[in-house]
Amino acid sequence: MDDTIIKILEKREIKPTSIRILVLKAMQEFNRAFSLGDLENKLVSVDKSTIFRTIHLFHEKQLIHNFDDGSGSVKYSICKDDCNCEVDDLHVHFYCNYCKNAFCLENVIIPKFDLPDNMQIESANFVIKGYCGKCNKIAT
Ligand SMILES: [Zn+2]
Ligand SMILES: [Zn+2]
Repeated sequence: MDDTIIKILEKREIKPTSIRILVLKAMQEFNRAFSLGDLENKLVSVDKSTIFRTIHLFHEKQLIHNFDDGSGSVKYSICKDDCNCEVDDLHVHFYCNYCKNAFCLENVIIPKFDLPDNMQIESANFVIKGYCGKCNKIAT
């Protein structure tokens, strides 16, 4: 059962220790972007500094990406299999004003901007705010 998780870790050149498998599993269980606090609440038995270090490693190895949804805490999300976290992989994120959850819109690519010649894009933080599908029903 853990085989796929181990493969995901190995593909990103991360040694699949039991704690990393546990953390990645917990990340997969969110069907939305998550914060460090979300993970801490989910993994109460795991040392907080271990969670922090694991997130840092996953981010460094481009297994996850992060973005600022304006809620005050950085949100993380698992990257798609073929994501290299390059400019071409940058996508729009959605923040629900109602349930306060953030989601990846992987198919909504950040538009190309005409930047001055001497400037080059490295990252972009593009967050759309509104109501998610679930909350839209409640709101209307
Ligand atoms: Zn919502
Ligand atoms: Zn994303």
